[in-house]
Amino acid sequence: MVNSFPAPDNFIIDTEPLHNALFLKKNVRVSMLRLDKMHPVISGNKIFKLHYFLDEAINSTHKQIITFGGTYSNHLAATAFACSVKGLKCIGIVRGEKPPELSHTLSGCIQNGMQLEFISRLAYKKINNEEFQNALKEKYGDHTLIPEGGYSLKGALGAKLIPAHFSSKNFTHICCPVGTATTFAGLVMGCEDEKVLTGFSVLKNLNVPEARLRELTVHSKNYSVNADYHFGGYAKKTGELIDFINNFYKCNKIPLDFVYTGKMMFGVYDLINKNFFPFGANILCVHTGGLQGNASLPGGTLNF
Ligand SMILES: *Cc1c(COP(=O)(O)O)cnc(C)c1O
Repeated sequence: MVNSFPAPDNFIIDTEPLHNALFLKKNVRVSMLRLDKMHPVISGNKIFKLHYFLDEAINSTHKQIITFGGTYSNHLAATAFACSVKGLKCIGIVRGEKPPELSHTLSGCIQNGMQLEFISRLAYKKINNEEFQNALKEKYGDHTLIPEGGYSLKGALGAKLIPAHFSSKNFTHICCPVGTATTFAGLVMGCEDEKVLTGFSVLKNLNVPEARLRELTVHSKNYSVNADYHFGGYAKKTGELIDFINNFYKCNKIPLDFVYTGKMMFGVYDLINKNFFPFGANILCVHTGGLQGNASLPGGTLNF
């Protein structure tokens, strides 16, 4: 295990061109920003979203972070690892009663020193209420609170650091998966005005990411969120999606996760097919990582 990680502007991040007969036929170029390759443990968008929260906790006297997530949460995994590297105490509030056997994600969190507290799904619905947060303060003392998924302006400002890693290149279109929409908001804020951004929602209800973006993004630019590729909703999947991910790996040797990046890439290919992108478009797809989540699939589902 690598026990350090650089500041966001010092990460070395590749952009890799993809190849496919479809791209030639439609005269588009497609590349991937490989955030998944940044670091063996805290890959992807999460470390960017955590950046300013970690800074705040490091510069505090309490040196403690509290955050939230589900059983397979990439956000909890990244937070636990980042806190262990930075010498911060951290507490993860987990949605649902404690299961007899912990997921690989939660076991990893514990190994990294995260203290877990399980709360019922009903109680979890109230984690953003003042009352709940006051109770946390009473129980654990002063701390830096990171909202679920890092959803906040502070999280988006961290994600705004991502475009520095590709701004020197000539992309016309930027694509990114959308969960809480924090990463996408950061990309919108950090990209030059003329870039066209498409977010691929992994949630069924398009109103949610749209409302969240309105809340986070001061000025709307050239962006839209597509909700046609959620495959049934959050963490749902179909055989068609799994086949696509396996085929994508066979062709490009790039692993995708089934919750976020697999759905985005399926959408990008489908939209290219449907002539959504103009002739000559140079598309950058942000690989936001999340590969640890694939371990929740039955063995043999994926070919990598
Ligand atoms: C968490 C996550 C996202 C969603 O990011 P938001 O900022 O919540 O929209 C996208 N991709 C991967 C791989 C993730 O782990």
